[in-house]
Amino acid sequence: MAVHGIDLGTTNSAVARIAPDGSPVVLAGMSGEPTTPSVVLFASRDEYVVGEGARREARLDPEHVCALVKRRMGDAQWRFVAHGKAWSAPAVSSLILSSLLADARFADGEEPKSAVITVPAYFGDEERRATVQAGVYAGLDVVDVLSEPIAAALSYGFGRLDGSVGTSKADGETVLVYDLGGGTFDVTVIELADRRISVLAVEGDHQLGGADWDERLALHLSRRFGEAEPDAEDPLDDSAGAQALVLAAERAKHELSDADRTDVVVAHDGTRVTVPVTRAELTELTAPLLRRTIDLTRSCLAEAARRGVDRVDRVLLVGGSSRMPSVAEALRTELGLEPLLHDPDLAVARGAALYGEKKELERMVAADLRTRGRLRDGDPVEDAATADLDDACRRVADAFSVPLAQVRRAVEIRVDTVVSRGFGVLAVSDVGRLEPTWLVHRNDRLPVRTNRSFGTVRADQSTVQLTVVEQQGQAESQRAQDVKILVQGEITGIPPGHDEGSEIRVTFEMGFDGVLHVTAFHVDAAMPLELTATTGATLSQAEVARERDQLGRARRRD
Ligand code: AMP
Repeated sequence: MAVHGIDLGTTNSAVARIAPDGSPVVLAGMSGEPTTPSVVLFASRDEYVVGEGARREARLDPEHVCALVKRRMGDAQWRFVAHGKAWSAPAVSSLILSSLLADARFADGEEPKSAVITVPAYFGDEERRATVQAGVYAGLDVVDVLSEPIAAALSYGFGRLDGSVGTSKADGETVLVYDLGGGTFDVTVIELADRRISVLAVEGDHQLGGADWDERLALHLSRRFGEAEPDAEDPLDDSAGAQALVLAAERAKHELSDADRTDVVVAHDGTRVTVPVTRAELTELTAPLLRRTIDLTRSCLAEAARRGVDRVDRVLLVGGSSRMPSVAEALRTELGLEPLLHDPDLAVARGAALYGEKKELERMVAADLRTRGRLRDGDPVEDAATADLDDACRRVADAFSVPLAQVRRAVEIRVDTVVSRGFGVLAVSDVGRLEPTWLVHRNDRLPVRTNRSFGTVRADQSTVQLTVVEQQGQAESQRAQDVKILVQGEITGIPPGHDEGSEIRVTFEMGFDGVLHVTAFHVDAAMPLELTATTGATLSQAEVARERDQLGRARRRD
């Protein structure tokens, strides 16, 4: 019955579930390691390896090893081709998920059926759908996708939200989650108060993470190697050599989190060069990367301040790369914040399991209320009368031998979140250009319902086209070429007799699930158009069928 929590990370993944005492535990597989590298080796046409084994092979067989696939989520054109077979990002991710499920089965003797999978807060609609698709490919019922910083905050603050445990501050706590992983950076301001977790602001960069630190250091190592051995081939010119150098750089980076200096042996083209590297050098080489995270942190804090929260009580560092001492140092000196390294590798999986349990208990309480006629279909549990809710919680607690406090907490805790990107429509501007008009803005609180009126451009206009777009990049651009088209539709067959400028009312609605529903209405003609942003970039049904077949043949090799 348990809903598992899965951190499907850029570099590492983990799976967790709730123990009988209510605490989240991470499940290790046969390797005994709590996390699995998110790396897939396609060993033959139908055989694959996930995890450390694949990561080790990366050097010997780079053409068949797929890493950092999370950066490709939502890109429907991208394929990893190995042994003549093409794999989409959800398909590759599903192999990682299947491996985690096998680990969970190894730990518990039972394979998870349903899960909450985490995603970066700034993942848009397509990336979220791709994540769900990966889960479906792996045979999972994906109960929800949850933002990673919310998961981290849940794992940190769950106890603090519980009235019976007592909050550390009566008026709640504001937490900044700084999450620097292997390939992504996310910063979020979250408020924990009155049994509510509210996301106040999110910022992030999809293309920034520890791997960029490794690349900068690898470049430095290759330069030093070239200076010492001018006649030898540059290791970066050869794909196996480059992989080896990047791995050596990553190892050195890890060592420099504990030590002030280390020696890296660069062996290539029959020669070996020892390059000493200091922590100060690494910090200097990568200063622009760290600066970018600090700049994004500042703008996230500014956004939270605009929402009336200008004080942060706690800074949580998550993600493996936040172990670099330069991160805490920069936050301390530049922003005056004292960070806490909170379970950086496992907090997200644990938080996802807590959320999964909340969803599951909430579902059971709602089902109990509905069968007794105490809650209408589709209404949330908080709409039930207090006494009815109490009784239902008690019955669920008894039936499933879960402590009553745990059931109550699951039902009472609310997670409020915000929109990760702006959404709008393309409309003709005053100067006759097609430009985006934004109706939903990043950091708007969910659920959102908003509308805007546009006018037809001609008298007797028979057709109105609607193009729904999503923000790309950090800012809402005013140029049509900068946006991503999500869905298009039209109102056709409008009878003549309507003036130029006739009102077209466009309504955008987005629920907690982040799925956008758009309606347009030609007011005078009373003609509607309804669109759901099932994005143009998701995989086609034929492609999904082909991949299912391909995945059905794939066998994991241990
Ligand atoms: P994650 O995506 O959260 O699993 O983080 C993985 C990233 O954290 C990789 O880029 C690792 O190189 C990096 N990382 C892990 N441990 C350390 C460490 N001790 N010092 C610096 N970076 C680390």
